[in-house]
Amino acid sequence: MKRNHLLLAIVGVAALLLFPVGIHNPYYIHLLETIMIYAIVLFGLDIVVGYTGQVSLGHAGLFGIGAYTAGVLVFKLAAPLWITLPAAVLITAGFGALLALPALRVSGPYLAMVTLAFGTIIQILINEMSFLTEGPLGIKLEKPSLFGHKLDDREFYWLVVVLMVLALVVVHRILRSHLGRAFEALRGSPVASDCMGVSVYRYKVYAFVISAGFAGLAGSLYAYSEQYISPNSYNFELTVLFLLAVIMGGRKSRIGSLVGAAIIVLLPKLLDDIEMFRYVSVGLALLVALTAVIGIQKGRATWQQMAIPVVGSVALAALSFWLKTMTDWRLSIFGVIMLFVVYYLQDGIVGFVRNALNLKSRPTDDAENEDPSHLPSVSDGMSVTQAGTGELLNANGVLMQFGGLKALNNVDLSIRRGTIHGLIGPNGSGKSTMMNVLTGIYVPTAGTILFAGKSVVGRSSSDIALSGIARTFQNVQLFGEMTALQNVMVGLHHTFDSNLVDVSLHLPRYKRENLQATARGMALLRFVGLAPLAHEEARNLPYGKQRVLEIARALALDPQLLLLDEPAAGLTAPDIKELISIIRKIREHGVTVILIEHHMDVVMSMCDTVTVLDFGQKIAEGEPAKVQADEKVIEAYLGGTAT
Ligand code: ADP
Ligand code: MG
Repeated sequence: MKRNHLLLAIVGVAALLLFPVGIHNPYYIHLLETIMIYAIVLFGLDIVVGYTGQVSLGHAGLFGIGAYTAGVLVFKLAAPLWITLPAAVLITAGFGALLALPALRVSGPYLAMVTLAFGTIIQILINEMSFLTEGPLGIKLEKPSLFGHKLDDREFYWLVVVLMVLALVVVHRILRSHLGRAFEALRGSPVASDCMGVSVYRYKVYAFVISAGFAGLAGSLYAYSEQYISPNSYNFELTVLFLLAVIMGGRKSRIGSLVGAAIIVLLPKLLDDIEMFRYVSVGLALLVALTAVIGIQKGRATWQQMAIPVVGSVALAALSFWLKTMTDWRLSIFGVIMLFVVYYLQDGIVGFVRNALNLKSRPTDDAENEDPSHLPSVSDGMSVTQAGTGELLNANGVLMQFGGLKALNNVDLSIRRGTIHGLIGPNGSGKSTMMNVLTGIYVPTAGTILFAGKSVVGRSSSDIALSGIARTFQNVQLFGEMTALQNVMVGLHHTFDSNLVDVSLHLPRYKRENLQATARGMALLRFVGLAPLAHEEARNLPYGKQRVLEIARALALDPQLLLLDEPAAGLTAPDIKELISIIRKIREHGVTVILIEHHMDVVMSMCDTVTVLDFGQKIAEGEPAKVQADEKVIEAYLGGTAT
C-alpha cells in the first residue's frame, strides 16, 4: 500500500513537471499554476476548517496580504524572490495570529462573521493605503529572478510545482504529528483537550498562524503568476470559494484540497463553453456511476445512498445536452452544483470516493511501520510513581456559586497519597462540580486548593493537567473522529519537545519521540484491554470501551491524581468487573484516585475513604462501612430517591 502511494505520488509529480513540455499553450499552463497556488491556500485552510473545526472567511484577506507583501517589496525595494516569499509567509502568519483572536472568544456563525469582517477590512486597507499599495491602481510586477536568471513562464510554473509539493509534504507531516493531533482534538472536544494538557488557546492560535503562513506563500506566488495585483481580487467571492473548495474536495485530505482547487478554478471556465461542459458532465456521470456500482458490489454502500449522487450527475449531463448556450445559465448551474455537493456529499468528493471504494482514510501512523524490536521496552505504558504517604490534595472551604445556587458550599477535602477516595452523593449534589473546580474548568468563588503543595486556583486546565491531575468525564469526551490510539497519543502530547522544524523535516528528535509515544500509546491500550481496537475511530467503539479509552487517555498524562467521574455509569456487569480490576491496577502503580460512583458495591469494595456530598455540602466522611451506616447519608439517599 505504502509503495503504491509513493509510486502514485511520483507519477503525479512527474506529470505536473512534464505538463509544460507536452503542452505549450500558456493558457493551460497558467490555469494549472493557479490550481496549484489555490491548493496551497487550501492545505492551510483545511488545518483550520477540517482539523480544528473553526470557520474562516478571512483567508482571501490573508491571501491578499501575501500577494501585497510580495508586490510591495518588489515595487518599492526591488526585493528578490528569496526575500519576498519568506517575508510573505512571516507577515501573513502574523496576521493569522490576529485572525485567531476572535476564534478564541466566539465560534460558529459569529466567528464566520468576524473573520469575514477581517477580510473586508484587509481589502479596504489595501485600497486606502495608496502610499504603500498604489490603491485601486494596483501593482504590476514581473516574473522573478532566481540565482540571477530571470524565470520565464514555464520556469516559474516549475517553481510553483516544487513549492506546492513542498507545502503538501510539510502540511501532511504537521497534521500527522502531535501538532495535528492537537488541532484535531480541539474539534473533538475542547474541554478534553485542555484537560489533556493541550491548551486550546495556544493550539487555536497556532493553527491559524500556520494556516495563514500557507495563504501568504500562495499569495506571493499568485502576485508573480498574475504579474498584476489589485485590491478587488481578494474579495468576498474568493473567500467563499476557498471555503467551498475545502468542503467540496473533502476536509482533512490533501487530495481533497487539490480536487477542491481544481473545481473552483476549472468549473467557471467549463461553464463558459457548452461543448466542454457536455464532455465533462458525461465523464463525471460515468465516473460517479462506476464508483457507485463498485461501492455497492463491495457492500460499502447501499442503493439509497448512491441514488442521489448518481441521479444528480446524470441529470447534469442530460441538462448539458438540452441547453443550447451557457451564457444565461452559468451562475445558476454553478450554484446548483455547489449546493448539491455540499449538501449531499458531506465528506466532500474525496470522502465520497473513499467511502464507496472502502479506501482507508487514515493509513497507520508513521511509527507503526517501523520494526518494534528496538523500541524502548514499555511494559504497560505507565511509570510507577513512588506512592509515598501524606496528603496529595487539600481543598479548604471551597465555595462554587452559580448565580444564587451554591453548587459547592464550604467543602473541605483531603486526599491521601496512594488511596482511592470515593466521592458520592445524590444527583446534583455537586460531585462533578468538585472535579471541574479541581481541574480548573471552574474557578471557585472562594476557598483554597493545594495540589502537591501548590495552589490550583486560577490556573488554566491544561496547566493543572500537566502538573499531574488527569480526569475522565461524566459524559464521555473523546475525540470522536480520531482512532483509539490517537486519542491516547493526545494524552502523550506532553512527551513531545519537537517543534515545527523537527516535524516538517522528520528530524531524529521527532522520529524518536513519535516512536516512543506510539509504543507507549499501544502499551496503555493493552493496559486497559483495548489493543485490538487501536485503529478504530473512537466514536465507533461500544460505550463501555469508550469509557476505558478515556481512562487510558488520562493515564497517558502520567498523573499523580486521577479523577474518575462515574466511570461505571452505563456499563454492563462484566464491563464493571473489568473496570474494577483496571482501577485496582492503576492504584498499584502509585496513582491516587478520586472516584465518583453511584454503584455502591463498587464504592464500598474499592475505596479507602468516602466523602458524601448533599446539596453542595459535605455531610459525612470516613471509612466506607461507617459512612454507609451514617444516618444523614441514608436520609440524603432516601430523600433523593423518594422525590
Ligand atoms: P453531580 O455531579 O453531583 O450530580 P453537579 O456537580 O453536576 O452534580 O451539579 C451540582 C449543581 O450545580 C446542580 O444543581 C447543577 O445544576 C449545578 N450546576 C453545575 N454546573 C453548572 C453551571 N455551569 N451553571 C449553573 N449551574 C450549574
Ligand atoms: Mg455529576
